[in-house]
Amino acid sequence: QAKREGGDRLGFYSRASQEQVRESLALERALRQAQGRDELRLHYQGQFDALTGRLVGAEALLRWQHPELGLVSPARFIPIAESSGLIRPIGLWVLHEALGQLARWREAGLPLVPVAVNLSLAQFRDPALRDHVITALRQHGLAANLLELELTESIAMEDSEHTIATVDGLKRLGVSLSIDDFGTGYSSLSYLKRLSVDRLKIDQSFVRGLRFDPDDEAIVRSVISLARSLGLRTLAEGVETEEQLSFLRDEGCQEIQGYLKARPVPADDFAVLLRQAMAEPAEPVTELVTEP
Ligand code: C2E
Ligand code: MG
Ligand code: MG
Ligand code: MG
Repeated sequence: QAKREGGDRLGFYSRASQEQVRESLALERALRQAQGRDELRLHYQGQFDALTGRLVGAEALLRWQHPELGLVSPARFIPIAESSGLIRPIGLWVLHEALGQLARWREAGLPLVPVAVNLSLAQFRDPALRDHVITALRQHGLAANLLELELTESIAMEDSEHTIATVDGLKRLGVSLSIDDFGTGYSSLSYLKRLSVDRLKIDQSFVRGLRFDPDDEAIVRSVISLARSLGLRTLAEGVETEEQLSFLRDEGCQEIQGYLKARPVPADDFAVLLRQAMAEPAEPVTELVTEP
């Protein structure tokens, strides 16, 4: 009796997981065709100076417009793209699309801000990455400092010697590098010091707790001071409230990204932000407090 129950339960679970497998195989099949069917899109989210509020950059975020499922979240399809190897062609498309968009904005007479592109582990490990970056910049006629590459802290920690060499090779091209989701891994000080990145992006899970979770506040404070002592800039992700912004500003975080200032939007909507930035005075209006 007990045995049969156990058997049934196992049967139930394996049916459930079979369904999951079938579903992700179906997604993988659809994803394989997504590029050719023009279903992939990039949205752009503004990054702002924490003190002046000026637009200082954009992050390109991938979207999949599936004909039946609608907009599929990257949280759902990036893992499938990674496990199936599709992330390499898709990542290359993202690089070209983001830089191509900058070139189109420039043609339209808009002022440009650097665009940040997320890299997956497979792309970062790809020996052809540096050549892909060179080719894409050249093809779209853009200076390297208009491109930033984001690698997550977990990718950065995978294989430290290889990571340091790859980051150095990319830095020599003149592109910027940042560590995404910072604080979720365990990078050591000495390792960070050897990694020639430009900024740390404080993970939004810590930003969420600002002003009510003392632990999150302590973590954010220490990441900012760590970055400062290493000469790196900090950007806080997922800033949704004025309270979070004022905490970050007071602690010396230079840049912010989040729904408070701007959501990820299609390229045409982002052009409005660029046009607004153009209309702003050339000199940022900052109140300089002179020390007594
Ligand atoms: P990420 O790189 O850490 O991107 C930030 C995520 O936070 C984005 O989610 C963005 O929409 C979301 N976000 C921004 N501001 C706020 C806010 O104020 N509140 C909240 N709750 N969320 C906010 P999204 O677009 O769903 O992307 C999720 C993740 O998918 C990204 O995290 C990144 O790891 C990955 N991803 C997105 N595009 C690409 C890509 O082109 N290539 C690769 N390899 N990964 C990508
Ligand atoms: Mg990112
Ligand atoms: Mg992040
Ligand atoms: Mg993330």
